[in-house]
Amino acid sequence: MKEFGYSLSPSSRVDLDKVDKSKQNRLFALEPGFKKCMSCGSCSATCSAGNYTDVSLRRAISYIQNGQDQLAVNMLRNCMLCGKCLIICPRGINTRNLIRNILNVYGEKQI
Ligand code: SF4
Ligand code: SF4
Repeated sequence: MKEFGYSLSPSSRVDLDKVDKSKQNRLFALEPGFKKCMSCGSCSATCSAGNYTDVSLRRAISYIQNGQDQLAVNMLRNCMLCGKCLIICPRGINTRNLIRNILNVYGEKQI
């Protein structure tokens, strides 16, 4: 028989005290723009790959800040490094360099 009604969603609580800051500091050293993001979403709105995949740099940065590194890496693997987000970012972040270094620091392959 089909079940109806509501169920509890799994917890998405993030404990920031447990986030490993050493990799974040390494990323910051490689691309200081990492800490300048204001989550405006302009990069995601104009992303070339965003129409076909789940790529969202805004979300990836937030994943990294919350210690959900693998979610960020899996998402950014679909980035084409076209640089469109670099042109649009109002904080002047070198987004391409940021994406490259997120994959280098948190991914298992160097690009
Ligand atoms: S560089 Fe990557 S994240 Fe930025 S617009 Fe191009 S595909 Fe999207
Ligand atoms: S456009 Fe720049 S400031 Fe806005 S969310 Fe993207 S990286 Fe962050």
